Amino acid sequence: MTAPDVASALIESHPCFSRDAHKHARIHLPVAPACNVQCNYCNRKFDCSNESRPGVVSKLLSPSQAVERFAAVKKRMPNLSVAGIAGPGDPLANANATAATLRGIRKLDSDVHLCVSTNGLTLSEHIPMLRDLGVHHLTITMNAVYPETAAQLYAWIYHNGRRYRGLEGANILLAQQWQGLSDAMAAGLLIKVNTVLVPGVNTAEIEALATQLRSAGIFLHNVMPLISAPEHGTAFGMAQVRGPTSAELTQARVLASNQIPQMTHCQQCRADAIGTVQEGCPSERNDKLRVAVASQSGLAVDMHFGHAKAFFVFDLHQNDITFVERRDVEHYCTGLSDCDEQPSNTEGVFRALSDCQHVLCARIGRAPLVALSNIGCIPVCSFAYQPVQQALKELQSKLTLTVVQEAC
Ligand code: SF4
Ligand code: SF4
Repeated sequence: MTAPDVASALIESHPCFSRDAHKHARIHLPVAPACNVQCNYCNRKFDCSNESRPGVVSKLLSPSQAVERFAAVKKRMPNLSVAGIAGPGDPLANANATAATLRGIRKLDSDVHLCVSTNGLTLSEHIPMLRDLGVHHLTITMNAVYPETAAQLYAWIYHNGRRYRGLEGANILLAQQWQGLSDAMAAGLLIKVNTVLVPGVNTAEIEALATQLRSAGIFLHNVMPLISAPEHGTAFGMAQVRGPTSAELTQARVLASNQIPQMTHCQQCRADAIGTVQEGCPSERNDKLRVAVASQSGLAVDMHFGHAKAFFVFDLHQNDITFVERRDVEHYCTGLSDCDEQPSNTEGVFRALSDCQHVLCARIGRAPLVALSNIGCIPVCSFAYQPVQQALKELQSKLTLTVVQEAC
């Protein structure tokens, strides 16, 4: 196989790296209790919040117990294709336990993909270990571009035998993360970057972060919502720093998606998760997906969003597609601009689409793209000029797919 073939095989068999790999199961083995960083959204009584839902506790296993668990699960779950270490602390701050576990699993199963998540602080020094173990999939959590922001997100880091706080700690952590990412890329690891979105702290630099990740060659970015409640006992929870609204999360993902593809099916699993990553489908989550189509006649996806005078609204159920109605609007763009600047007729069109999860159109400018994301409606341009029914069927086959396109 060529290098691109290998990469694509690795992507297609990991349920977190590819939405289409949902038939493959993964197991998280909780062998890593310690951490070398204190994130302000994490309480050490619980699992590492960089991957997991805060407030969830996984029972710690020794490496031999973890290997036994893997063997037992593999017997009853033939589609188990990924074994990962994601906590409850940082796997690389528990390098011996992580290595012993992954080595034991590799002895039992030469085909399973090994996967590790990390905050990145000691990534560079562990690349040889990860290579020797045959780890191909890596998740790094990176939440900031600027040290001033990072200093608000991390209380301290513990590095080379010393604790660092504030800007000093933030500078070291960011430098270590970018160096680790670069070394991991050079070593040929397949990397996904997680980012915890904290309103008012790192919201404004998500796009800049995504730009840097794209320049570094990262292929997948996962912007996750901060989950914060006082009962979780985290610094942010106690300080009543709230998580993002769904509109804020959508907008951050839309902006980041202009730079780098976004993972939108992360379940923020626990450190001992087992099975497939459940994506849900219209019937499970909502019972339908409502889609508006910018079209002249309702037959083809043939209108620029800003020029559409009518939207044809459909409900996508798991097994059928029903036409709801045609909604006439005053078209959004009235001037010569391509809607990248000031919107013109904003009120009516967004009111008309406020109950839709997606709008299919031939093109869309940046300003309406952001405005739509604010009302939780994701524009999709990839079906431009296709017949409406064909486009809807393709969308339906992907069920809850959240397709985010850059302004086009
Ligand atoms: Fe918690 Fe993970 Fe952050 Fe460590 S890296 S403090 S375990 S969220
Ligand atoms: Fe995949 Fe997200 Fe679960 Fe990790 S937390 S296993 S990335 S779905």
